[in-house]
Amino acid sequence: MSLARRLALQQSRTRVALRPAQSQGSIIARQFLARSLSTSSARLYAQHTPDHDHAHPPASASSSADLDVNPYKGQASAVDKAVHLFFFTEILRGMWIVMEQIFRPPYTIMYPFEKGPLSPRFRGEHALRRYPSGEERCIACKLCEAICPAQAITIESEARADGSRRTTKYDIDMTKCIYCGFCQEACPVDAIVETQHYEYSTETREELLYNKEKLLANGDRAEAEIAANLQADHAYR
Ligand code: SF4
Ligand code: SF4
Repeated sequence: MSLARRLALQQSRTRVALRPAQSQGSIIARQFLARSLSTSSARLYAQHTPDHDHAHPPASASSSADLDVNPYKGQASAVDKAVHLFFFTEILRGMWIVMEQIFRPPYTIMYPFEKGPLSPRFRGEHALRRYPSGEERCIACKLCEAICPAQAITIESEARADGSRRTTKYDIDMTKCIYCGFCQEACPVDAIVETQHYEYSTETREELLYNKEKLLANGDRAEAEIAANLQADHAYR
């Protein structure tokens, strides 16, 4: 046998001997690959949240899908609409509402013959008060003039013979007043107050320039009402 033929025969034997080993290795490799793939798929399944569960979509998605399919779902049918149309049910319902209102107490009042309730803190027309002796309460401290944000109050004062100080001029420009109530809050002797009188509209601007006599007259006229309101509110002052 030649040397070349002997070498070829030897390589052929070696290939035949290696073949079972190779096929066994490939089987092991295939099993490992299959196991790792199955592990990956199991992990993926465990991480699969219900939000991404396409097999079982959430109820809201299902209902919205229904609405997309039937936008008139839950609304009146054509028969219902026809019945309402031919039997004038809307007109009858409207007449029933009108009938209900007839027997209800009215929401409005017949002003000026009827008047609504007023709070003791209502801020209306101004007044200057007196003591029961008839002496003016105002001591001309000018706190009200200083606090007035609208600069509607003008006061002039002088000392009397007994040494007390009283105003010689107390004017309020009611066209400037914003009814904030600061003047009566600042007054240390409750001299300037705002009454519950609010019906004092005028035809000329000059009639709303109040002087001391006008303010004292307002106070004399409404003293009982002013005292009652101050008494009702004294716990909060
Ligand atoms: S109610 Fe206000 S704006 Fe009117 S006079 Fe008094 S402080 Fe001035
Ligand atoms: S009304 Fe009152 S705050 Fe105004 S000056 Fe007279 S005492 Fe002072």
